[in-house]
Amino acid sequence: TPEITIIGGGLAGCEAAWQIARRGCTVTLHEMKPIHFSPAHESPLLAELVCSNSLRSADVSSAVGLLKEEMRRLGSLVMAAADHTQVPAGRALAVDRALFAQFITEKIENHPAITVVREEVSELPPPGEWPMIMASGPLTSAPLAASLAQLTGEEHLAFYDAIAPIVAADSLDMAIVYRASRYDDGPGDYLNCPMNRDEYAAFIEAMRSADKVPLKEFEEQKYFEGCLPIEIMMERGENTLRFGPMKPVGLPDPRTGRDPYAVVQLRMEKKDGLLYNMVGFQTKLTYGAQQTVFRLIPGMAQAEFARLGSIHRNTFVCGPKVLLPSLQVKNRPDLLLAGQITGVEGYVESTAMGLLAGINAVRLAFGQTALTLPNDTAMGALVGHLTQTEPKHFQPSNINFGLFPAWETKLPKKLRGQHRAETALASLKQFCDAENLESA
Ligand code: FAD
Repeated sequence: TPEITIIGGGLAGCEAAWQIARRGCTVTLHEMKPIHFSPAHESPLLAELVCSNSLRSADVSSAVGLLKEEMRRLGSLVMAAADHTQVPAGRALAVDRALFAQFITEKIENHPAITVVREEVSELPPPGEWPMIMASGPLTSAPLAASLAQLTGEEHLAFYDAIAPIVAADSLDMAIVYRASRYDDGPGDYLNCPMNRDEYAAFIEAMRSADKVPLKEFEEQKYFEGCLPIEIMMERGENTLRFGPMKPVGLPDPRTGRDPYAVVQLRMEKKDGLLYNMVGFQTKLTYGAQQTVFRLIPGMAQAEFARLGSIHRNTFVCGPKVLLPSLQVKNRPDLLLAGQITGVEGYVESTAMGLLAGINAVRLAFGQTALTLPNDTAMGALVGHLTQTEPKHFQPSNINFGLFPAWETKLPKKLRGQHRAETALASLKQFCDAENLESA
């Protein structure tokens, strides 16, 4: 019987172990708790939720609701635990975190094909007879992270993410926003939101008084100069942003022929042009404050955000450089990555990448080809983000419909999610039938 090693008994590691064990392989799952705890973990149980107890929207016509439904259909242990231990939370799926972790820990520890070893793995084991999975999470212990960095190259392993917000293109006011590249050095790839002196002053003032997310103790750190949060830049002086990410020089507004006083630039996030990234706007403003303050930007009064900005400690690889769509590491295909370390963001997304890694580890162990999921499913769209993003701009992402392939359908907004979900679940069903994968 193939014996598959997993490092990390978090959300992704447990999901992978479950998927492997139910497909006839044995698993050795290494978890460093309770001997060592990361700065955010505190329970000896497996599959600990380190912060919120919410797995976000339960609505299948939302992207994260769809992702959860796909996982249910693939026999997810984590979804079973969540459904079993849910607490009332309106339209969200929230869980009793202790019962949730207990449910999963019992299933894993009592499974005859799974052995849990409570120890820290300080180095990636050399390639052996069977595939192995690394699922040690955003707070992977330092020696193991160093070992991964050696494999991927230091430059392809990050320890912090600095995420700028992403806006939906169709929520911008194109009567104000204009297309231009600095010094006209390209085909006008950027969208530009111009500000006059008063608008800039009001924007700075709003940012100064906005709520910020306090740093956790283990997050106190020097920022890389290249990804300073905007509010830290702003503290350095009234005009710092105008000489930094909001520099207006070389970007004349076609309506006046002159450079504005300041500019917020938006860069296309994906080729289909549905989503735009706010260039240089990584921030620790609270989500609520970001929505208020960024809607003061001319042209963004009605902005819809596909993702808001954040900065936190996070160990993750540059997926497009490091990973195959199967989640195998390109230069070491016996090793699969799973969970947040792949470059996804969030409990549900991390779990989904554990589920896929588990299935693929088994397929490789039995000499079959690894699966690449259809890109119109939520799981496939996430893998697309991990493997097809421009490496220079790669940052972790939650699931959102902007990661899906563009379609021509002219549906009213409120029906689009439902249409996405129906398409995705039909596509998953067809894929499972073709690949002989069970789907409920
Ligand atoms: P984890 O769940 O962290 O599991 C990794 C496991 O590996 C841990 O149990 C760890 O002890 C173990 N491990 C690490 N190194 C080793 C080693 N060398 N040897 C053996 N075991 C090891 N997402 C949300 O959706 N909502 C939130 O509210 C949220 N809050 C977060 C707060 C913080 C502080 C952080 C860091 C992340 C947060 N996330 C949140 C993001 C992310 O979704 C979770 O961290 C998620 O748990 C990631 O799943 P995972 O399986 O990849 O890693």
